[in-house]
Amino acid sequence: MLVTESIPKTTSQSALNQSVQYLKGVGPKRSEIFGRLGIHTIRDMLFYFPRDYKDRTRIQKISEARIGAEITLHGKVLGVQTRMARSRKNILEVFVGDETGAIAATWFNQPFLMKKFHVGDTVFLQGKVGAYKYLQLLNPEYEIIRGNDGDIKEGSIIPVYPLTGQMSQAYFRKIMKDAVHLFAGNVDEILPKEIIKKNQLIFIHSVIKNIHFPETFENLKNARFRLVYDELFTLELAMALRRRGIKEETGISFRIGANVDSHIRNLIPFALTNAQERVITEITEDMRSGKPMNRLLQGDVGSGKTAIAIYAILATIANGYQAAFMAPTEILAKQHFQTLQKYLQHSHVRISLLSGDTNSRQRKDNIEQIKTGQVDLVIGTHALIEETVKFNQLGLVVIDEQHKFGVVQRLKLKKKGPCPDVLIMTATPIPRTLSLTLFGDLDVSILDEMPPGRTPVKTIWVTKDKEKGAYDFIKGEIAKGRQVFIVYPLVEESENFDLKSAVTEARKLQQEVFPTRRIGLLHGQMKPAEKDKVMMDFKEKRYDILVSTVIIEVGIDIPNATVMVIVHAERFGLSQLHQLRGRIGRGSEQSYCLLFGNPNNYVSSERLKIMTRTNDGFKVAEMDFRLRGPGEFFGTRQHGLPGLKISDLMKDFPILKKARNDAFELVTQDPQLTMVTHHKIRQRVLETFKDRLELMNI
Ligand code: ADP
Ligand code: MG
Repeated sequence: MLVTESIPKTTSQSALNQSVQYLKGVGPKRSEIFGRLGIHTIRDMLFYFPRDYKDRTRIQKISEARIGAEITLHGKVLGVQTRMARSRKNILEVFVGDETGAIAATWFNQPFLMKKFHVGDTVFLQGKVGAYKYLQLLNPEYEIIRGNDGDIKEGSIIPVYPLTGQMSQAYFRKIMKDAVHLFAGNVDEILPKEIIKKNQLIFIHSVIKNIHFPETFENLKNARFRLVYDELFTLELAMALRRRGIKEETGISFRIGANVDSHIRNLIPFALTNAQERVITEITEDMRSGKPMNRLLQGDVGSGKTAIAIYAILATIANGYQAAFMAPTEILAKQHFQTLQKYLQHSHVRISLLSGDTNSRQRKDNIEQIKTGQVDLVIGTHALIEETVKFNQLGLVVIDEQHKFGVVQRLKLKKKGPCPDVLIMTATPIPRTLSLTLFGDLDVSILDEMPPGRTPVKTIWVTKDKEKGAYDFIKGEIAKGRQVFIVYPLVEESENFDLKSAVTEARKLQQEVFPTRRIGLLHGQMKPAEKDKVMMDFKEKRYDILVSTVIIEVGIDIPNATVMVIVHAERFGLSQLHQLRGRIGRGSEQSYCLLFGNPNNYVSSERLKIMTRTNDGFKVAEMDFRLRGPGEFFGTRQHGLPGLKISDLMKDFPILKKARNDAFELVTQDPQLTMVTHHKIRQRVLETFKDRLELMNI
């Protein structure tokens, strides 16, 4: 085993790149376990942060124990015994004493704990004081310090690391203590001086020391602040650089005069809402400018995003350019195609649909026409991104449902034109906290007003005992000529879950509940052509009820459907529930969303309650974010938050705002971060966000 003294005197940086094996007490076998934690080098070790801390700053004496109050104490094990209570519960008692008295730490039905305590051990105990024949601590938190552990002294804050069972906290702490002691001084300060000064940040050396072994909670807070700031500053720098990069490109200066404007408005069969007008102003400003547009349009389902897209598309075509419209699924691409065809029937716009299942002959023709400019507007799925698809003069890219696509896909489509404008539309409102981080490189427009003539959907939470009544209600709606969606979480019965599935339940509903009604079935395992047929049949009222899995989640427009039943609603996320609800309430009739759900925990019952309380997608999103946290908010891999290890976007929003301002200011002063004082931070940004930045020229 190598000892610390043998570390060669090299530069401070290469010292940090040495294997953890160079630390005293870490042999080849242990270093393998470190490796499994992602710790290979000494630097990894220093940046492996505690997940929690134990407050040992106020150790009390046993004589201070008050019945009913919490106490944290420190003493020696005097004796261990188990006995049987009259209730036949096993009771373990560990007697602990300090110089002022003794107390019994008591656990019920955990006889296996007995082996852990040995007379003479030092223990920390934290719990609530009770009394039996003597003072007790009931089910206290405990930590046993075996032998001579000089590192743990009274009156300190003890780090708790995220470890597996193979490594003890005490051992890890000891190694960490050495690592910090010997190497914290080698960690390079990469933040520019002016940033450190401005925010009164503490220097990185003392950050490392204080995040692991803080002497006070104030020090810990400062260290954490600095680390959170570092993370968010790096992220926002990436955003600022990307945005800067986009802004520096030369885009198309579209000419949108009164003529074009009135021509477009003639094709839109309704008066625009104030919100639509505002967004169109924002978009035309972008399009007219010589910088490429990179704009995110957020608007709840039904808020009228299509009209906005049409405006931008027609303005593009009027300038002699082509437009591409990308949707996340085949069904949606088709529906957009049909909708746009209808809007554009009295125009000269040549429009084509390019989808994955277009047969190859027609596909070839389509691709040829797109290339030669015989087509003005192409609608399609990600098939549009494929290598073979080339445009004659691509001027605008519209992407529906942003978060189904990754940033990389977005850039790929964009690259098919000289420097087309990009408009991304999403019906999943993104809490502001997240839009600043995830889409910080985009300008944002918001449609926060519904077109007139809508009756807000009524949402009702239906518990088990009310289901029959709900079915009677549905029968009444069908008798009035309305249609109904019934959504299940699964396609088929599954062995692992006790959940109702679409296939089985469709059959049951037909036989037992709605024997005279026409029920259609739609699920993700059907072929695209089959799905389309079922959807079209439903749209044309050949079914009264459509039983489905969540694939109807996005986009489909059936104004005559007034009831949305979601079975096992407790299984769905808030945003998903809200999206599903958006499928109804599209006509003028009162619509109802019935949430069948029997949640067994707080979060899922909160979700259902929120749904019954608000129809506002932004509120739903904000609460979803709060309930689930940012990690899960987007569900899919490509939307995991990049590189955030320590920040909590809810809690740390104020720091995010600071970091964002500083980052954007820095990039204004030094657009490529080429100044010597910015080299290190530039390096860090490039390393952390390689994937997202490599398509940019920085
Ligand atoms: P989104 O794409 O945002 O979900 P759509 O663009 O599909 O919403 O619009 C939903 C419905 O509202 C469509 O039937 C559309 O024709 C209608 N609509 C949109 N804007 C208006 C408006 N300003 N006035 C009346 N109806 C509108
Ligand atoms: Mg839409």
